[in-house]
Amino acid sequence: MTKSLSVKGFRRIVIKVGSSLVADGNKGAVRHEWLNGLAEDIVALRSDGREVILVSSGAIAVGRGHLGMRRRILKLEEKQAAAAVGQIRLAYVYQEMLRAHGLTVAQLLLTIGDTEQRRRYLNARNTMETLLRFGAVPMVNENDTVATEEIRFGDNDRLAARVAEMASADLLVLLSDIDGLYTADPNIDPAAERIETVRHITPEIEKMAGTSRSDIGSGGMATKLQAAKIAVNAGCHVVIAAGNSQNSLASLSRGAPCTWFVASRSPMTARKSWIANNLKPVGRLTVDEGARVALLAGKSLLPPGVVSVHGDFDRGDAVVVVDGSDTGIALGISAYSAVDARRILGHKSGEIAKILGYRGREEIIHRNDLVLS
Ligand code: GLU
Repeated sequence: MTKSLSVKGFRRIVIKVGSSLVADGNKGAVRHEWLNGLAEDIVALRSDGREVILVSSGAIAVGRGHLGMRRRILKLEEKQAAAAVGQIRLAYVYQEMLRAHGLTVAQLLLTIGDTEQRRRYLNARNTMETLLRFGAVPMVNENDTVATEEIRFGDNDRLAARVAEMASADLLVLLSDIDGLYTADPNIDPAAERIETVRHITPEIEKMAGTSRSDIGSGGMATKLQAAKIAVNAGCHVVIAAGNSQNSLASLSRGAPCTWFVASRSPMTARKSWIANNLKPVGRLTVDEGARVALLAGKSLLPPGVVSVHGDFDRGDAVVVVDGSDTGIALGISAYSAVDARRILGHKSGEIAKILGYRGREEIIHRNDLVLS
């Protein structure tokens, strides 16, 4: 069963905003009025109980305009310099726009490594979670100033999909200059029709996206489709909708035309199957009977239930959990290194800070990071 396809039914929404929506194409001036509409829409979603993460492009477009870089294709170092100037200007505008509505913006600049290397990924994930818990609106962009060509997302569509995956979001909205995926490029083929719902991203669907690119941003329909694949696989629904008009998210909530990509499982199920299928354990935790019963009942693993720690692992590594007779109970991601786990085992969560000298997580393995065998 899928939810009825309306923005309203979702809990955590990632909204990706392209450069051409944020910045004026020729001069790179920030489009204040449009952004104000976006802020209003975010406020409306928030007051309706949704959590919102923004992924905004536009740093390079705004910065190049400000620095007067006229070349159509910029060199890498020019893009990096433009981003340094544009990002701070953009962040300021978002901050002011949302502040006017009583919301706090938090800037997260990520590189591809932050979404691929597990420790950095977990750090970014925890930070995002904490920001949301404190009611802030995370505003994410690629860290263009340090990202070089080979280690760059380059387009924020895929970055947004990775962010959605990282945050276990259940909806990713890609605001675009077109209101969805068409059977052919509608600029060329007048018979092209918009597709309402995509349940499987087949080669035929991929063919429809072609290689189209918009002039000012980096993504085209092809990168949007790649993004949709990543997100759907992570259990996150995706919608591609037109963002050009004022308050386009509000229009989307009222049923504006768009294309839906349907995820067939929840973010949590997707995450657990990722843990089960991709992580190789590098350590082992033996737990007592109380912890075994708690784990089987869906609880997290706390330090008092751990009897011994085997192996040499880092925080963020996968470990197996076994009972006293070495029978496997679960596989999970450890929130502590082997060294620290040994120091806190058997102790109450409240004692962790005193023993380690820092305040880590209460759980050695959080239930969301744990899959029963
Ligand atoms: N990160 C780039 C910027 O902020 C944009 C990438 C894209 O166009 O998607 O300018």
